[in-house]
Amino acid sequence: MSPIQRRPCAQVSIGPVRVGGTAPIVVQSMTNTDTADAEGTALQVKSLARAGSELVRLTVNSAEAAAAVPHIRDQLDRMGVSVPLIGDFHFNGHKLLREHPACAEALAKYRINPGNVGRGSKRDPQFAQMIETACRYGKPVRIGVNWGSLDQDLLTRLMDENSSSSRPLSAQQIMRNAVVLSALESARRAEELGLAHDRIILSAKVSGVQDLIAIYGDLAARCDYPLHLGLTEAGMGSKGIVASTAGMSVLLQQGIGDTIRVSLTPEPGGDRTQEVIVAQEILQTMGLRSFLPLVTACPGCGRTTSTVFQELAQRIQTHIRHKMPQWRREYEGVEEMTVAVMGCVVNGPGESKHANIGISLPGTGERPVAPVYEDGEKTVTLKGDHIAEEFQELLEQYVARKFSRKSAASETAAA
Ligand code: SF4
Repeated sequence: MSPIQRRPCAQVSIGPVRVGGTAPIVVQSMTNTDTADAEGTALQVKSLARAGSELVRLTVNSAEAAAAVPHIRDQLDRMGVSVPLIGDFHFNGHKLLREHPACAEALAKYRINPGNVGRGSKRDPQFAQMIETACRYGKPVRIGVNWGSLDQDLLTRLMDENSSSSRPLSAQQIMRNAVVLSALESARRAEELGLAHDRIILSAKVSGVQDLIAIYGDLAARCDYPLHLGLTEAGMGSKGIVASTAGMSVLLQQGIGDTIRVSLTPEPGGDRTQEVIVAQEILQTMGLRSFLPLVTACPGCGRTTSTVFQELAQRIQTHIRHKMPQWRREYEGVEEMTVAVMGCVVNGPGESKHANIGISLPGTGERPVAPVYEDGEKTVTLKGDHIAEEFQELLEQYVARKFSRKSAASETAAA
């Protein structure tokens, strides 16, 4: 049971996935393929879904992309991948949804950026067209404000009001207010146009951690729509991971956030699924959800001068991730298992005893033996050249023995 009290909010259904209310916090991701390439996009969606993405968003930016969407859906269905698809629309979304009804139908949700639906007098009717399409097809909408494409009319209005105020606010505070107001005013307008209250999710993404925390805190206090959490343009590698984790963890700890995306810039040729893994790890390390067994490994130090310890920790981590789709089907509760891989006798036995299964490798100068602990008891001592293979086999046996197989009935229900 999570110790964190979630903020009460409405619940929105996106195909079979529930967001908000009492539903678990949902992990989502976004493709970076050309959506017009139906085959390439379907394969990337499949890999994101296989990594654990429960919703996948794709950009719908052209007639070719809109035409490809139903084919992407068909290909995924043929591959047995049922993950709901979300269409990301900007500028021409009203036109694409109108001219491509099969796209409007195949998508499970539309993301609308109120700053990018049209300029001046075109904005309101184009926004209305998109909301009316959502109503016609019974689709939920995410009103996704992004400070990089903030509604300039709204921002100008707030700036003008501020300049004539006797106690003017800072430009940063006006920006924060404009982001929140854009989301709330757009949601109100969507409801006036007929979209049901429980078909609206809000997001208000910025790239600064303190801005993110302030904006979502304000938004959470002023509405009961489910909130999609994410730091936009988080960046590459450790910078993107740390910034996203820092911002989202503070909000999640306050019970704010019903679905999350970690917007990482992949390395050239890098694996897009990293953003899914990071999102899962944020939720799991905070005790909000369990996705796969956690491997506890010490950082290593001068007492571990060989690479055996690092190699074993990496091998076990990779093995668990590889086996998880099968384990999840066959074993109940395996995602809550903990595994310890420790470098020496200083903390090794103690940490191993706290894990479901753990191994304490020999540090430099220690006897070349590796005691294994299961449920706090030492069960065997491994030695020789095949410690890694033998520990992996012990892990497999532990999982098979410890986590009862799901009954046929519960598997059918889960399907
Ligand atoms: S458990 Fe041993 S090897 Fe690992 S960090 Fe501690 S002292 Fe170093």
